[in-house]
Amino acid sequence: MCSMILVGKRALVTGSTSGIGLAIARALKSEGAEVVLSGFGEAEAIAALCAELSARHVPGDLSRREGVEALMAGAGPVDILVNNAGMQHVAPVEEFPVDKWDTIIALNLTAAFDCCRLAIPHMKRAGWGRIVNTASAHSLTASPFKSAYVAAKHGLAGLTKTLALELATHGVTANCISPGYVWTPLVENQIPDTMQARKMTREQVINDILLAKQPTKRFVQPGDVGAMAVFLCREEAANITGANISMDGGWTAE
Ligand code: NAD
Repeated sequence: MCSMILVGKRALVTGSTSGIGLAIARALKSEGAEVVLSGFGEAEAIAALCAELSARHVPGDLSRREGVEALMAGAGPVDILVNNAGMQHVAPVEEFPVDKWDTIIALNLTAAFDCCRLAIPHMKRAGWGRIVNTASAHSLTASPFKSAYVAAKHGLAGLTKTLALELATHGVTANCISPGYVWTPLVENQIPDTMQARKMTREQVINDILLAKQPTKRFVQPGDVGAMAVFLCREEAANITGANISMDGGWTAE
């Protein structure tokens, strides 16, 4: 379904040079939004994405406050803000590298706060805005060895609820989308190594390792997350705010 409902809206999607963020950027563009891309990548690949989406790319390391501020200044006023950039590190708490902890909290949580802080004045003036945060099943539940990620994603869910309350009378909504395992190159690329390391078939790796917690035994598709982001931008979604929308194949229903 494509009805160009977002013509005249500028959408900034962080972490939109790959994976889920790119799918969200494509979905918003297909509804007519002007898209601003952010994220790392090869210059040629980023140029190709800009051409495909008639988009601007604004560089910036979002694990640093100066990078976020440069992004927001370069993007200009945004009507739709998708805080999606994120990273993971897996280690027991007592061995967790402290610099990884700092970077994950900075990128997965503090960057969202800073982007919101800088985007909200325009949204309030316009009387319309949409903040969509890519959280995770790990904003609702935990897994061992992912302390920084789980802490940051729970924090992002709490930030989102606070934003929803503060912005409720301004025509601005704030919501989380919380995927389980999403079929991105990042996930796909780890299958061959895991097959070898565990002497398993591709199907065993997918079902018994990757999708062990996902009752549907199916990956979420990046485009599904994009479609949900578009829905949250519709006028029919004006009363959906402060929500944490699970797209996890039933993971957090257990
Ligand atoms: P990805 O690695 O494919 O994309 C991450 C994006 O963030 C890229 O565009 C990358 O360049 C950008 N990025 C990374 N570090 C950055 C930095 N310091 N500054 C600026 N940009 C930076 O990952 P993905 O799977 O698409 O994940 C996107 C979001 O979805 C993340 O917040 C992740 O936690 C969340 N998520 C992913 C899954 C999954 O299974 N893939 C599940 C739940 C939630």
